[in-house]
Amino acid sequence: MKQESEYSCDVLVIGSGCSGMSAAITAASEGLNVLVIEKEPKFGGSTARSGGWLWIPNTALAKVQGIYEADDAARTYLQHEAGSSFDGERVDAFIKNGAEAVDFFTAKTAVRFDMPLVFPDYHAEAPGGMQGGRSMVTRPFDGRELGAAIKDLAPALPELTVFGMMLGSGKEIVHFMRVTKSIKSAWYVTKRLSRHFADVLKHGRGMTLTNGNALAGRLAKSLFDLNVPLWLNTKALSLTSDNGRITGAVLDRAGSKVRVSANRAVILASGGFPYDIERRKQLFRHAPTGSEHFSPSPTGNTGDGLRMAEAVGGQVTTTLPNAAAWVPVSTLTRKDGTTGIMPHFIDRAKPGVISVLRDGRRFTNEGNSYHDFVQALVKSTPVGEEISAHLICDHKTLRTYGLGSVAPFPMPIARYLRVGYLTKASTVDELAEKIGVNALNFKETVRGYNAEARLGRDSLFGKGSTAYNRYQGDALHSPNPCVAPIEKGPFYALKIRVGDIGTFAGLKTDSSCRVLNCDGSPIDGLFAVGNDACSIMGGNYSGAGITLGPALTFGYIAGKAVASATLARKEETVMDAPGAKFAVVSH
Ligand SMILES: Cc1cc2nc3c(=O)[nH]c(=O)nc-3n(C[C@H](O)[C@H](O)[C@H](O)COP(=O)(O)OP(=O)(O)OC[C@H]3O[C@@H](n4cnc5c(N)ncnc54)[C@H](O)[C@@H]3O)c2cc1C
Repeated sequence: MKQESEYSCDVLVIGSGCSGMSAAITAASEGLNVLVIEKEPKFGGSTARSGGWLWIPNTALAKVQGIYEADDAARTYLQHEAGSSFDGERVDAFIKNGAEAVDFFTAKTAVRFDMPLVFPDYHAEAPGGMQGGRSMVTRPFDGRELGAAIKDLAPALPELTVFGMMLGSGKEIVHFMRVTKSIKSAWYVTKRLSRHFADVLKHGRGMTLTNGNALAGRLAKSLFDLNVPLWLNTKALSLTSDNGRITGAVLDRAGSKVRVSANRAVILASGGFPYDIERRKQLFRHAPTGSEHFSPSPTGNTGDGLRMAEAVGGQVTTTLPNAAAWVPVSTLTRKDGTTGIMPHFIDRAKPGVISVLRDGRRFTNEGNSYHDFVQALVKSTPVGEEISAHLICDHKTLRTYGLGSVAPFPMPIARYLRVGYLTKASTVDELAEKIGVNALNFKETVRGYNAEARLGRDSLFGKGSTAYNRYQGDALHSPNPCVAPIEKGPFYALKIRVGDIGTFAGLKTDSSCRVLNCDGSPIDGLFAVGNDACSIMGGNYSGAGITLGPALTFGYIAGKAVASATLARKEETVMDAPGAKFAVVSH
């Protein structure tokens, strides 16, 4: 590494995703001198490629919709979800500060959200579950507001875009799906595409930022408005300490070594460990070599924050029933030769889609959340077999809703067939043979499913029986928005495996986000937020936005905590000064 230089600030934030930028904005708003560093050439991390949904109970947005919660409903729900991994103190901190954080960001920064009237919790029928009012999505953002920095914003996941454009909300996705069926939708899509192509011609990218891109863009705008420097291509290598207190970090800034002294705190926000193979081996039971797992998270999220904290006494939770937020994924070679990893969030719930194992049998309610679906897949796969399944549908379903990366009509499907992403057959028998599943069982599965599906039922797994299932189905399809027969060929299959959209197992922290050492006491000057901290969901996935909601909230809590610790320290100093006690009282 080249020459060494030094830099001094109050707070060093490692990572430029939602949690890091939230902490940085809050601390800077409190008057602290903050530096944010990002190891990648672009900022935003997983946040920038996410759906941009945040789960936070009891916000002003819910109240505007007339949705009020009983005081302890969210706590009851999270306790039920987390079971023996429930962390009451941190959950209480989240519930107490979540709505306040949203108020702060919407009043004082460029961050804005919208809340649909209905987006059920993923287990809305459980105690404390709600049919809506807790999940909100980031409001689209005009990328021009970032000025030249727009070129530094990490892109959306290509697999989740249409012509490079991420579709903002459920409503927008419905317009695209109905483009050939409704004049209103066709007009909406035409306008949206024209605007997008005009932006691409002029700016080299779309400027209507949506979802996670809007969230990262809005947070970055807020950061820049506060004049907080954000160093790209800058990787934190290790933490420095003095007498047990964390004093800063050593960085690699584009090949040069920089020693940063952070006079107040270092906040770890490096996005967990989706790409740390060693920790995968240790904590992902389905991935004994670490390579049986396929993550659409950014490859730079390699667990650096966890390792740096461990080196100074931090502890990583190893007891969660699920160490990450699972998602079924399919893989596809992109046009540029790289491998794309497509997360299957909603296609499974559509009417006419089922999933089968190699034995040709269904194994779960396909409309359940991605996290629940994967747990069922892992549990149902015989020991020693590759953990995978196939999604199955007929031509009508494929062209109506699409499947994975395959978009609905009128988008072409030939390429997907050519590269083997999608398998097509004119009969169910032929499909079974092509994808290597037990043909006898498969035929029986389809026959049995169809007999009930014609009546809108699924007595085997209850597809369409929960509020969340129905929300992800097709509201215009009756009597069951998630069930339709698979009747008329050609038939299609698509292989899915196990991935994650972020890790849950993280550093043990207290309710102020301070990293705890092995005796449970805080390491002075060290904080962790976002996926660097252990999730408060206890290894469960409770609703849309349960990583970003806590990321924003705990970022806010950490920023405040650092500022108040600073205040306390200043007061201490003043108290120590001769004759200063009276000054403090009047402060
Ligand atoms: C396709 C997809 C959709 C998703 N949708 C949602 C959703 O709608 N709602 C939701 O709640 N969650 C969603 N998630 C999960 C969510 O994106 C993540 O849980 C969340 O963004 C994590 O935020 P973070 O701040 O912890 O980390 P990140 O946003 O990943 O930011 C961490 C940053 O730290 C940087 N970094 C790493 N190591 C270092 C180092 N040594 N030095 C400097 N920088 C470093 C990384 O490069 C990265 O930019 C989705 C994930 C994916 C992949």
